[in-house]
Amino acid sequence: MGDGDGSGRPTGPRVVEGSVRPLGALPVRRLLPRRACRRVGAWVFLDHFGPTDGSAMHVPPHPHIGLQTVTWLLEGEVEHLDSLGSRQVIRPGQLNWMTAGEGIVHAELGRHGRAHGVQLWVALPREAAHGAPSFAHHAALPEVVRDGARVTVLAGTVAGATSPAVTHTPLSAADLRLDAGTDLAWSLEPAHEHGVAVLEGEVVVAGHALAPGVLLYLPPGTPAVQLVATGPARLMVIGGAPLDDELVLYWNFVARSREEVVEAVARWRNGGFARVPGYDGPGLPAPPEPAPTLRAVAPWGPSEGSP
Ligand code: MN
Repeated sequence: MGDGDGSGRPTGPRVVEGSVRPLGALPVRRLLPRRACRRVGAWVFLDHFGPTDGSAMHVPPHPHIGLQTVTWLLEGEVEHLDSLGSRQVIRPGQLNWMTAGEGIVHAELGRHGRAHGVQLWVALPREAAHGAPSFAHHAALPEVVRDGARVTVLAGTVAGATSPAVTHTPLSAADLRLDAGTDLAWSLEPAHEHGVAVLEGEVVVAGHALAPGVLLYLPPGTPAVQLVATGPARLMVIGGAPLDDELVLYWNFVARSREEVVEAVARWRNGGFARVPGYDGPGLPAPPEPAPTLRAVAPWGPSEGSP
């Protein structure tokens, strides 16, 4: 694929293979970050987990810095607890939007056996990366029905509807449920780059037959894509203004230097993050020290081993 501006950013669509790794019995497809595509706008992480029965997720308390976490369920229920004292059950159709800023700790506890959903991270821009943490639960989101697609707007403005989620860079995210036989020209913001992930069924997107487990990257300057579904299907479209900052992702941290990561690891190991009220039990163990070679990287171009 060509490279139009010397940044390494593709000039056309790129199919990015996700990895599959289990979290206990829960299958998790990691679609971001990947070597072939580290981010889409400020979206730096996308895990598609499930669907599965009988293996409710149980993620003990762990810290985040420098990012926002976004939780969106297709099935099941998850209870969220955090160090601000938030205690919130999320169900399908609802959105949890947590801003870590300088630091927050949360636990995620599946309440029923069924588990199917998506967790994304948004990198905060430099001026917000060390801000105050916050947690928002949106019990209902704007929906638009158009040409065989039922669209829920998670972030930004999509199809004329705007999500209440607070963003710090221009971003969008939408969940699209397609009826069998849908053949739809889906408009995109041409100034943004986009990623398309099929969550259920199969969809031909811009001529690429996609199933769960891959991300289709679309560079800026893409005004629309054709979505064709022969059977019922569900997909997520994320987008955002390119974020060219050099970032380092390590464990649950998004930072701009290795030193910042080392400090955060030590802070967690030494009990320097706030506790999660109402959770009895230990948090996740601290990760090892990052390798000396760990460094912040731009979205495209050489990685020296970073994903
Ligand atoms: Mn987390």
